[in-house]
Amino acid sequence: MEFVIPAPPTPALDVEGEKGRFPVYRIFCVGRNYADHAREMGHDPNREPPFFFMKPASAIVTGNADFPYPSATKDVHHEMELVVAIGKGGSNIPAAKALDHVYGYAAGLDMTRRDLQSEAKKLGRPWDTGKAFDHSAPCSPIVPAAKIGHPAKGRISLKVNGEFRQDGDLSQLIWNIPDTIAYLSTLFALAPGDLIYSGTPAGVGPVKKGDTLEGSVEGVGTIKFKVV
Ligand code: MN
Repeated sequence: MEFVIPAPPTPALDVEGEKGRFPVYRIFCVGRNYADHAREMGHDPNREPPFFFMKPASAIVTGNADFPYPSATKDVHHEMELVVAIGKGGSNIPAAKALDHVYGYAAGLDMTRRDLQSEAKKLGRPWDTGKAFDHSAPCSPIVPAAKIGHPAKGRISLKVNGEFRQDGDLSQLIWNIPDTIAYLSTLFALAPGDLIYSGTPAGVGPVKKGDTLEGSVEGVGTIKFKVV
């Protein structure tokens, strides 16, 4: 195909044990999906329907590359999350079939300009400037579900400069992965290449230039990068 300007690159993630990479199409993120995080943000953790926001695929950062501290903010927070990689698309996917649509899993961070997000919440404006900025979605390589299965429990944690800041368990998800996929697929036709950032446990907090972040999802992977 011929384009009138250079075509943008296809963002992609490495896949453990594979030569090929996973092309990223869209990034969906679930808000407030761990009760203790909902509480720390001042919300009732009762099981309301999940809600979603998005980041552009170009926001992913791979290969443990540095995270550049973004412009226009004084309060960038880490949110450690299990990332689900969709391999097979679909609409109105039943929860009982949802895991058949998963290619694999990764460990990622939903980096957040908390000050801009808080202001947007107050004014009833969209979250994009708080959530969807460049480099806002660092992500580990994907491990195929064919290799590790579908983790429903396991430690999810984040250290900043060697100290634990977030330490939860996947079993604490309010909307588990099958339910999240089922619900999301009633709102969007899911497609191969979609990523779902599934929400963060409690302990979110600010980062500063020079910090080293080390995240881990038990049985899935690790991610480590520096804020520059
Ligand atoms: Mn998040």
